Amino acid sequence: MMGCVFCKIVQKQIPAKIVYEDDKVLAFEDATPQAPVHILIISKEHIPTVNDINAGHKEIISSLFAAAKKIAEERNIAQKGYRLVINTNSEAGQTVFHIHMHILGGRHLAWPPG
Ligand code: 5GP
Ligand code: ZN
Repeated sequence: MMGCVFCKIVQKQIPAKIVYEDDKVLAFEDATPQAPVHILIISKEHIPTVNDINAGHKEIISSLFAAAKKIAEERNIAQKGYRLVINTNSEAGQTVFHIHMHILGGRHLAWPPG
């Protein structure tokens, strides 16, 4: 979608530190990391929020989780622990309206989050 920063990353129009890519999803280092491991996994298709997911997106959703699991193993946080976060709309703090899963780990993560 025009003007969407994550679509531009998918199209390689702006740079990102890409750590994983397949036909459905792309994963890259968050520009403002909040933990030693902070990676974003995004759909290649422009889906604004979780509220826009439909039955046609099953493969994408499955690929998001498969990528998260693979990255957690590669970064050695799978056993220690990590958190997957999808912020949705304003009260949750979503700032980029292209669906993305945060994978956070490498330190103790407090609960509940702020
Ligand atoms: P949200 O608050 O929407 O869940 O998270 C958006 C995330 O995207 C933030 O953690 C922010 O640091 C990250 N981000 C925003 N723009 C860019 C960018 O151009 N490149 C990268 N690598 N991360 C970005
Ligand atoms: Zn987009």
